[in-house]
Amino acid sequence: MSPFPTSTVLGYPRIGPRRELKRALESYWDGRATRDELDRVGAQLRERTWRGLAGLGLEGLPSNTFSMYDQVLDTAVLLGAVPARYRAADDPYFAMARGTEGLAPLRMTKWFDTNYHYIVPEVGPDTVFKLDPGKPLSEVREARALGYETRPVVVGPVTFVLLASALDRLDEVLGCYEELLSALAAEGVAWVQLDEPALVADRTPEELAAVRAAYERLGAAGARPGLFVATYFGDAGEALPVLAGTPVEAIGVDLVRGGVPEIDLPGKTVVAGVVSGRDVWRTSPERALAALAAVRAGRVTVSTSCSLLHVPYDVAAEPGLDPALKERLAFAEQKVAEVVALSQTAFPPSTAALVPPGPSVALPAPVAAEGRGPYAERAAAQAEHLRLPPLPTTTIGSFPQTGELRAARAAVAAGTLSRDDYERRVEAEIERVIRLQERLGLDVLVHGEPERNDMVQYFAEHLDGFAVTANGWVQSYGSRCTRPPILHGDVGRPSPITVRWATYAQSLTDKPVKGMLTGPVTIVAWSFVRDDLPLRDVVFQVADAVREEVSDLEAAGVQIIQVDEPALRELLPLRRAAQADYLEWAVAAYRRATSGASDRTQIHTHLCYSDADQILAAIDGLDADVTTIESARSGGRILGAVEAFGRGLGAGVYDIHSPRVPSAEEVEELLRRTLAVLPAERVWVNPDCGLKTRTYEQVEASLANVVAAARDVRAGL
Ligand code: GLN
Ligand code: ZN
Repeated sequence: MSPFPTSTVLGYPRIGPRRELKRALESYWDGRATRDELDRVGAQLRERTWRGLAGLGLEGLPSNTFSMYDQVLDTAVLLGAVPARYRAADDPYFAMARGTEGLAPLRMTKWFDTNYHYIVPEVGPDTVFKLDPGKPLSEVREARALGYETRPVVVGPVTFVLLASALDRLDEVLGCYEELLSALAAEGVAWVQLDEPALVADRTPEELAAVRAAYERLGAAGARPGLFVATYFGDAGEALPVLAGTPVEAIGVDLVRGGVPEIDLPGKTVVAGVVSGRDVWRTSPERALAALAAVRAGRVTVSTSCSLLHVPYDVAAEPGLDPALKERLAFAEQKVAEVVALSQTAFPPSTAALVPPGPSVALPAPVAAEGRGPYAERAAAQAEHLRLPPLPTTTIGSFPQTGELRAARAAVAAGTLSRDDYERRVEAEIERVIRLQERLGLDVLVHGEPERNDMVQYFAEHLDGFAVTANGWVQSYGSRCTRPPILHGDVGRPSPITVRWATYAQSLTDKPVKGMLTGPVTIVAWSFVRDDLPLRDVVFQVADAVREEVSDLEAAGVQIIQVDEPALRELLPLRRAAQADYLEWAVAAYRRATSGASDRTQIHTHLCYSDADQILAAIDGLDADVTTIESARSGGRILGAVEAFGRGLGAGVYDIHSPRVPSAEEVEELLRRTLAVLPAERVWVNPDCGLKTRTYEQVEASLANVVAAARDVRAGL
């Protein structure tokens, strides 16, 4: 077996440095481009990646890291796990990913603790696993035609069955992997990478036994490439000795988030992830070299802590960034260069000075979190002050984002539209949204968030300590990308951010207008953050900025303030032992952000409905006067738990994720279901998330039915 290359990366971005794949996919989906055209763009991107990696001097090139949508979906297809109902679709792959007329897509959820979403494989009694190695084989051949030998990357069997909740099907799945190994060996492939990120979370003895059985069996396969099992996103813990006891030749460990393995791995190659795939900072060569030196293994090679999928392409594409900040940054290209340099231990000792020290460490100012009275007192003060009808109707914040607004923002950036003119347009949009809500008869209005490109980036643009990129796109799912802001210094709020929009909206109407903020955990979760402070302290700094905004909104006469925290679940540590601590400080940060409000000011929170079950106690701990987590899709599953909070609940009675307009009867039915569990005085009526992805036509018709249903039920109280 040829030795494992001295340097590699576990994966690379694939959307294209200018989001070429996004455009190609969307053209194909809209019927503006043919499948051939889409495939051509894919091939160009793969070629560009291989040439780029080789050009940087990287020895071990991965393949099969490209995907038209998602690597987990690719693995499901590789294993033949395509549910029967999709097989007749024109394009079963995209039908599973996105749905078609009359066929809902497969479920999608977040990939471990990242903001990347994968397609959840569906494995049922009808699933017949059958290998289709077309994609990895063709990528190997494609690279070879360009002169490159590559290492195909595939989601590993244990992670696959765990994601599919089908551990009992591991044996069948392993049969496919055995065939895959033999097909790759026949193709002359020297190494294959099996990704097993599931091994960095707590695993039961049964699951660990499955890991052992799986890799003993694959290791015993006749002709096969070298087996490289990659663990990442944390410490492989007790899975590491298990893997070490199997015949796999190489093991990937994440030395950024996990520690140096405590065990000796004499017979193995350790692929040491010392360059972070989860942040945008340059690697400290001293720290990396020390970690590399501390690994006790047969052989140590240099790699990234995980795939570089989670970082943008290239710092050089950011001419607008402050040069002092740029000096500290490494995106995918720069990280590859770091891997190569570390593998050659080519950092001259003096380069330490090239990594400037982080900004000053400002300890968060002590703020009493418990600023507010007990809920009963608050509720009484608010009722007296707000004088709302029972079952008040409201929305979650955003109204449809129009193409004109997006174009206007681009025009400001390009310098062809003045700030003033842009702000007039935002005001005109706010006025339209206020009039619409008045016409519909909603009780608590919103300004509609037309000034926001994104609920995190907008705040980042207005806070000190953050920078935003021009091209720093990171894939979120399919063709969707986000541009996470970079939180690089101490956070401060030089001036009020949302107050002018909220007060403008309030000046147009006698109905209360709800102020709209993003919570500290979500701002941090959807940004790249500094790593020289504990995450908790970073979140607390942001919480203090939000607290100032809450206080200014209140001073400006805003009576209801919603602070959204949809990413609360996302940052939950993968290991249970660390979860309680996280939830404690995350909740404390939220309360720090909101507890400056007087009892009379009503605090709302919204969390998108996603795996809320695990964190219900923490959501209760947020102590918001009104909480919206329940989704129209969930059939009232967590209402009971929210009832136990003893505070207000916003019932999500309109599923905004679908273009469908719900009838007033349907809405009424959902509302009555809520009232069966919660007393009417504590129930609000609202859509289950923001409306920005819908059209005005859908929103108007749907909200009219929401208001009609609420009035009907109200009349019968
Ligand atoms: N207020 C935000 C909106 O309505 C909430 C978005 C979210 O929950 N992700 O768009
Ligand atoms: Zn939401």
